Amino acid sequence: MRASPFGTRRLPVAVLGATGAVGQAFVRLLADHPWFELAEVGASERSAGKPYADAAHWVGDDSIPAHIAALTVLPCDPKAIRSPVVFSAMDSGAAQDAEPAFAKAGRTVLSNAKNYRMDPDVPLVIAEVNPDHLDILDVQRRNRRWKGAIVTNGNCAAIAAVLPLAPLHERFGVTKVFVATMQAVSGAGYPGVASMDILGNVIPFIKDEEPKLEAEVRKFLGTRGDRAIVDADIAVSSHTNRVPVEHGHTVVMSVGFARRADMADVESCLAGWRGASEACGLPSSPERPLLLATEPDRPQPRRDVMAGRGMSVTVGRVRKDTLLDVRLVALSHNLVRGAAGASVLNAELMAALGRIEAP
Ligand code: NAP
Repeated sequence: MRASPFGTRRLPVAVLGATGAVGQAFVRLLADHPWFELAEVGASERSAGKPYADAAHWVGDDSIPAHIAALTVLPCDPKAIRSPVVFSAMDSGAAQDAEPAFAKAGRTVLSNAKNYRMDPDVPLVIAEVNPDHLDILDVQRRNRRWKGAIVTNGNCAAIAAVLPLAPLHERFGVTKVFVATMQAVSGAGYPGVASMDILGNVIPFIKDEEPKLEAEVRKFLGTRGDRAIVDADIAVSSHTNRVPVEHGHTVVMSVGFARRADMADVESCLAGWRGASEACGLPSSPERPLLLATEPDRPQPRRDVMAGRGMSVTVGRVRKDTLLDVRLVALSHNLVRGAAGASVLNAELMAALGRIEAP
């Protein structure tokens, strides 16, 4: 693993929306982080002033790390939260004003909310896929006169789709994607979908999910222009579904290419991919961002969701498509690779690139 850019001290960080499903994933990932110290937790007025252990409805069979359990929950206001780096797991309603307020106050905000992802001067980053999109931060600072910044990670289903699409796009030029998702209940936050609605059922609608998924795939795979990220010219058609799975979004995709590809090339392209070198060796980098399953009935959420500590996407059933060129299945942990883990990895990447410095 790379040495910490902060030497022997750890950089204080905060989690906004720390009591929710993504917030709890952040708490787990940051409790013993080698570069960052989780110093502050924030949530709504309902939770502010309470010890974290009382405010959070902790979901899981582990316990809240003792030093975090005792932290007092703060309001999500830059006057109350002083850390230079804030991870935002806030509800989008609250993120709208709070995230820019932190950026204006000089903090680096790593956001999971949908609000700013598609703004042309806001980087939407997967560390292994498009670290160069962080360069647009210089434009963001000029445009908005912020001393700080907002960097976003994607919608959890978009991340599951983009990780396998990235090496395929680089090698064969992706032109068309048909994607259908089977998304876990934890993707809807806590308490999320009522158990009576989802048990034994499939709900073929997730509000606003399809347009987000389609637009974000194009932005992630786009190129850095002088003033904005330029979307990739890829036609994307999506169907999104909620299924009775606890964690792990499965996406099935048919993909069309600009260049000829045989199945052996496609498999070796996926299996050999390590992603951008800037993202290798960071504390949260998995050994392999993509794992190629060879068994005919994998990936499966119950068996594969924690691959690479939740940071590897497992790809399987790679085969010739009858409409487009290739079809495959991919599985990603929505709370780790699709949310908190993606943000922490982006922060590590920014620190390694000198884009986050100790105050
Ligand atoms: P959640 O379980 O509903 O948690 C929402 C969090 O926002 C809670 O900590 C809540 O605090 C806080 N909050 C609500 N209103 C607030 C306010 N006015 N001021 C400050 N904090 C406020 O939702 P989630 O699933 O963790 O999602 C969090 C964000 O990540 C959302 O924007 C979501 O779209 C995005 N996201 C989620 C996933 C996923 O798989 N779940 C994946 C990618 C992105 P209280 O407990 O005090 O109410």
